[in-house]
Amino acid sequence: MIQIHYFTFSPIQENTYILWDETKEAVIIDPGCLAQYEKEELADFIEDNQLSVKYLLQTHAHLDHVFGSAFVKRKFGVQMYMHKNEVPILADVENRCKLWGIKGYEPVEADVFIDETSIISFGNSTLEVRFVPGHAPGHLAFVNHQQKFIIGGDVLFRGSVGRTDFPYCNHQDLINSIHQQFLILDDEYKVYAGHGPATSIGQERNTNPFF
Ligand SMILES: [Zn+2]
Ligand SMILES: [Zn+2]
Repeated sequence: MIQIHYFTFSPIQENTYILWDETKEAVIIDPGCLAQYEKEELADFIEDNQLSVKYLLQTHAHLDHVFGSAFVKRKFGVQMYMHKNEVPILADVENRCKLWGIKGYEPVEADVFIDETSIISFGNSTLEVRFVPGHAPGHLAFVNHQQKFIIGGDVLFRGSVGRTDFPYCNHQDLINSIHQQFLILDDEYKVYAGHGPATSIGQERNTNPFF
């Protein structure tokens, strides 16, 4: 049984997810911790729950999702996994931080490129990878079918969808991704978003103005 905990970090209010199961093996997804106290909060949680971090996974590489990636790699000795299409996005994060006046970002590089059809395993659990470009060119979502949830990043929000006014975004790709990869799932699938509260496929299918 997978347990999910999230922190909302940085002035951008990004949701950082920690998933683990009965084996105590864990994955960290999109570590957005920027301030030192946020990094300590994340590390304390891992320590207090005696978790062993196996992977650092990225839904995508926008600045708010990688603020703490270098820290997580170093602190837990793990490799950073993302889609190869995110390489130019990640390479631009330092510039974007300067542009936005954000201090404290430690540059980071990915170690492993996630294939669009991979299954990520930790402990007794698995996450199916879904390729959902649009908000970012190599955006991935992580789906668990046993417990019916999606770690969806910045694709689908409660009542909204991801922004597409950044470089490398494409609105039509985003809408197609949601239709082809998210809306084909049952109503009960819970969606944990990169910002704001969780929602469900059913709720968004019925009430989201974008569909
Ligand atoms: Zn984003
Ligand atoms: Zn974001």
